[in-house]
Amino acid sequence: MSHSISRRAALVAGAALPMAAGFGLPRIARAQQAEGMEMELPTHRVFMLGDVKVTDLLAGSRVVPDPHSIFGLNVDDETFAQVSDEHFIPSDKARFFFNPVLIEAGGEVILVDTGTDPAGITAALEAAGKQPSDVTHVVLTHMHGDHIGGLMTEAGEKTFANAAHHAGRVEFDYWAGQENEGFESKVRPLEGELNFLVEGDQVGPLTTMEAFGHTPGHLVFTVAGGESDLLLMGDLANHYVWSVGQPDWHVSFDVDKEMAVETRRRVLSMAAENRMPVMGYHMPFPGLGYVSAEGEGFRWMPHTYQLML
Ligand SMILES: [Zn+2]
Ligand SMILES: [Zn+2]
Repeated sequence: MSHSISRRAALVAGAALPMAAGFGLPRIARAQQAEGMEMELPTHRVFMLGDVKVTDLLAGSRVVPDPHSIFGLNVDDETFAQVSDEHFIPSDKARFFFNPVLIEAGGEVILVDTGTDPAGITAALEAAGKQPSDVTHVVLTHMHGDHIGGLMTEAGEKTFANAAHHAGRVEFDYWAGQENEGFESKVRPLEGELNFLVEGDQVGPLTTMEAFGHTPGHLVFTVAGGESDLLLMGDLANHYVWSVGQPDWHVSFDVDKEMAVETRRRVLSMAAENRMPVMGYHMPFPGLGYVSAEGEGFRWMPHTYQLML
């Protein structure tokens, strides 16, 4: 009896191992295994920007293998490993975060980006005391699957039934010509009601800035309310070391890699010079911090208590 119990325990323990050492498992299986947030990560965090309530929502998180196949395509393995080591992070795997942001001001409830699927964003909203039906505006930085995935339910209905939907004109036109499955199922159904944003357009306290390169019509937003505007940088830079720290490193997800580098430098310089608080969709949760110019790139300093005084 005790033998069979210990054997069973050993099997169970063995079943948990592939996360750490499962080199034989296909990539997709490992990604799914990590999808359930079994590490008990937090679901949301609230900050105040003057009178504006900002809630960072963790709509999903996963461990991804071989990050050098994504970041630093134009540097060798040794450089990638060295930079990772200097920052105390492994070079063979990374944890990805998906952080939509909820902005509440003047009675409006504005959701910026929607996660990979309706379940993730709905769970994060509910944990923060909100229902999808409370959202008055949905704003998209761009139309990659991990930003538009929460827009429509499995049944093909709008997740945010009472919201006005806003997205970039250039971005929409690009994906509309791509025969992209995600776009067709999540964005195309909203075509007739989308409000198209260009540089300078406002949604509540948000002001639109065009920051093209990651995708052809990628947008970032500044949020007015505090002593200094908050920058919602979307996917301008998708890792605090390998992209904020190394803005010249090419990223597989950037549609136009050179334009992405130029835009990253321009927008991060603006944030550094103006000492703006910055939120990044893929920064480690809660994805809020500051950037300063350092070396050939920028340094990401996670928020501690500056907006909680
Ligand atoms: Zn993206
Ligand atoms: Zn993304």
